[in-house]
Amino acid sequence: MLRFHDAVKERLLRYSRIDSQSGTITGPGPSTPCQRDMAAELCAEMRGLGVSDVFFDESACVVYGRIPASPGTSAEPLAFITHMDTAPDVSGHGVRPWVLEAYDGGDILLNESRNIVMRVTEHPVLKNYVGQDLILTDGTTLLGGDDKAAIAAVMTLAEILLAHPELPHGPICLAFTPDEEVGGLARELDLERLRARFAYTLDGDHVGWYQDQTFNAAAAALEIRGVSVHTGTAKGLMINASDLAVEFLNMLPAREKPQFTDGVEGFYHVCSVSSSCEYARVELIVRDFDENAFASRLTFLSNCTEALNRRYGPDTAALTVREQYRNMGQTLSRHPFLTELLRQAITDCGLEPVCEPFRGGTDGAALTFRGLPCPNLSAGYENAHGRFEFVPIQSMEKNVEILLSLCRRWAEMGTLPDLSR
Ligand SMILES: [Zn+2]
Repeated sequence: MLRFHDAVKERLLRYSRIDSQSGTITGPGPSTPCQRDMAAELCAEMRGLGVSDVFFDESACVVYGRIPASPGTSAEPLAFITHMDTAPDVSGHGVRPWVLEAYDGGDILLNESRNIVMRVTEHPVLKNYVGQDLILTDGTTLLGGDDKAAIAAVMTLAEILLAHPELPHGPICLAFTPDEEVGGLARELDLERLRARFAYTLDGDHVGWYQDQTFNAAAAALEIRGVSVHTGTAKGLMINASDLAVEFLNMLPAREKPQFTDGVEGFYHVCSVSSSCEYARVELIVRDFDENAFASRLTFLSNCTEALNRRYGPDTAALTVREQYRNMGQTLSRHPFLTELLRQAITDCGLEPVCEPFRGGTDGAALTFRGLPCPNLSAGYENAHGRFEFVPIQSMEKNVEILLSLCRRWAEMGTLPDLSR
């Protein structure tokens, strides 16, 4: 059995020290210039490994590379897509990763001088990794294993495939994208340049898990125009937009909120309310896995808006809805081999594949909607977006094995028939 322990470890330690935290997207290009540092690192590394067609789209901050098919193998190109940015929730600056070998199952002292301890009672997921080697932070920053654990696995895959031409695989296309954590949705990933009809994103916690379902998602804004009158003479004249905003909020189903739902249940989530007597604005998001239920939710919001207009006069309330992404499951169900191969590859590596509907969006959901079907394989990190984030080195190793198996199985499938997209 090939072992990739040192390769993935060295990579994650190196990547995590590069600050590539994303921020608020304000225009074209990456939300933060530091993401270009990570991009430059990956370009240089790919060139060093002998990856072909390495290209850095500077303005979009997307990195591409390609590994040609192994000699004598004719197979459909397959893409692996990972994101270079880390979450803005906790600082990603000055990350000081370290390795705890052969974890003994107890509490972990992350930072002696500040007395920061990761306790098993607060992070029971640690129990799954007794005996393994963990890459941790010093308790003051995130690690950035989301998604650099995946990048470490993909780069190690590239290294192995290029060093072992006897391993059968078709063309492997690589892309590294910015701003996943802040809703970038791989918008500027150039599908023409990627040159693959199918892809997998690698992201998410727990090794061996994968996702082929995401929410259908929309953002909505309700604008309410009131009538402001001196409070002393307001009787019968004033329409207080603040009151109408509250009226609208009370029309929303009380239990269909994120804090009361899980699994495949959808919800409405009020993101913000700003109001005065004259004007109110309610911003909310709508989520549902089921296409029809999602449409019904949007219709419900329209009906609420109409109800306000009937009660208080036409043009009192106006609703705008912006679709954000669709459940990729609707498209992926037309290409069932994508998840089937993934399940087989996970099983090949001695793991039980676990499929979980993803209660959010992934870059893959947006890409699937753009015509690149894209299930997601977990990257194997834990406690992402926080100071207690960690990555078991063995999880990254497993992911390299899964990717190798996936490439082999993909090649065995040969060229695919002409599929209508
Ligand atoms: Zn991620």
